[in-house]
Amino acid sequence: MTDLELTHYIQQVSQKYFQRPFKHRANFNRRLKTTGGRYHLEDHHIDINPRFAEDSDKSILLGIVKHELCHYHLHLAGGGYRHRDHDFKQWLAAVGGSRYAPALTVAKKVQWHYQCRRCGQNYARQRRLNTQRYVCGKCGGRLKLL
Ligand SMILES: [Zn+2]
Ligand SMILES: [Zn+2]
Repeated sequence: MTDLELTHYIQQVSQKYFQRPFKHRANFNRRLKTTGGRYHLEDHHIDINPRFAEDSDKSILLGIVKHELCHYHLHLAGGGYRHRDHDFKQWLAAVGGSRYAPALTVAKKVQWHYQCRRCGQNYARQRRLNTQRYVCGKCGGRLKLL
């Protein structure tokens, strides 16, 4: 997704859920680490963390865009646009936006655990081992998968 496509997407979400136009620009910002997005009070643009835009059904992105649009529209309308404001909480609940940046699912490295049948030494490996070929480094015994 390009910045232009992102802006178009936000325009669509804005019309559909807020019935108000999004008239500013949006762009991906790789420097956002754990936050999904950011609304800028000075020039009204919205930054989106590209890592949250990668899910195929856009459900995470949609939640973030709704959240940022609550800041955006409330701020422009002179309402309570901060997280602690009543207006903000109400609007967010009404459109079903994300309350906080959703946690990025960190791909956990798969570990295979083996134990030596003879001496009991434990091994953890990133890859699956062929227990016919690999033997215990300590005693040369056969390994079993745990
Ligand atoms: Zn926010
Ligand atoms: Zn052993």
